[in-house]
Amino acid sequence: MRIEEDLKLGFKDVLIRPKRSTLKSRSEVELEREFVFKHAGVSWAGVPIIAANMDTVGTFRMAQALAGFGILTAVHKHYSVEDWQGFIQSVTQDVLQHVMVSTGTSDADFSKTKAILALSPALKFICIDVANGYSEHFVQFVSKAREAWPDKVICAGNVVTGEMCEELILSGADIVKVGIGPGSVCTTRVKTGVGYPQLSAVIECADAAHGLGGQIVSDGGCTMPGDVAKAFGGGADFVMLGGMLAGHDESGGKVVEENGEKFMLFYGMSSESAMNRHVGGVADYRAAEGKTVRLPLRGPVENTARDILGGLRSACTYVGASRLKELTKRTTFIRVQEQENRVFNGL
Ligand code: 5GP
Repeated sequence: MRIEEDLKLGFKDVLIRPKRSTLKSRSEVELEREFVFKHAGVSWAGVPIIAANMDTVGTFRMAQALAGFGILTAVHKHYSVEDWQGFIQSVTQDVLQHVMVSTGTSDADFSKTKAILALSPALKFICIDVANGYSEHFVQFVSKAREAWPDKVICAGNVVTGEMCEELILSGADIVKVGIGPGSVCTTRVKTGVGYPQLSAVIECADAAHGLGGQIVSDGGCTMPGDVAKAFGGGADFVMLGGMLAGHDESGGKVVEENGEKFMLFYGMSSESAMNRHVGGVADYRAAEGKTVRLPLRGPVENTARDILGGLRSACTYVGASRLKELTKRTTFIRVQEQENRVFNGL
């Protein structure tokens, strides 16, 4: 047994220090970024935020709504090939530029992903997602995917440490998904005691990935636009959002009514709700590592998207970053023991 003594930080442990700026208005801030991916060699331009591949977030409707903002959607893996066909026929190629095809690591997942990617060359992103990115089987799947799809952008995770981030990039990932345990409906830390505070995971993994010419996505733990700014400030190239985009018209969650009030169900992809829906229940050798919550209906996602992008532009102006790309370089975090003033929050 060993103990690492240096304190690891989450978003709630820091604020971004303001810096002198020549920007006159937040409208001058460019949030769009352009990447050329290490292995795939292709480029992509857009706002590097990703709707999470959860079936109550990353839906086809969400992809259509967010593509207009240049935001990506990692479409969840539970749509059939026929569903994909219908979706692809109903949208312009422009929307498909902002879509990731999610997959697990079974042989069936591989065949299905192959069939989906064959539907349109405009699909350029694959998101290989497992709860524990430390398994050998997962690394082998990433290599197999890289071999099968040399020009697709492969995003793979989740991990939280530099050495595993490097291994995934060397095995063929362009983007490594970073985050174990920070999610809003995740109970991994409660059930297993395993995890890593998200901001430190991002800082350490970004350093490792960038050293090899790869990218990272900070996945999970953002509860407000300020957290998204902190994730980018910490070095994330992309930020993935679940809870912040749940509960909207496009999120696809079941709407339930209680005492005349309507709510939308939102649940973790390893929760009992998800396993009942997709795999016929929780297998007896495992525990659910996600929970189900009821959210008040939040209306169309475009209002929330505007709020997030507005917050991000404002964060950039506070530190004098005229482009999102410059935010990390302009960020100094201060460690704090307070965040917002909550005195009127219940009112
Ligand atoms: P959020 O933005 O809601 O804080 O986090 C979203 C992320 O939580 C997802 O992208 C995914 O990585 C993670 N997640 C989703 N469902 C579950 C789950 O059931 N268990 C765990 N451990 N993580 C989950």
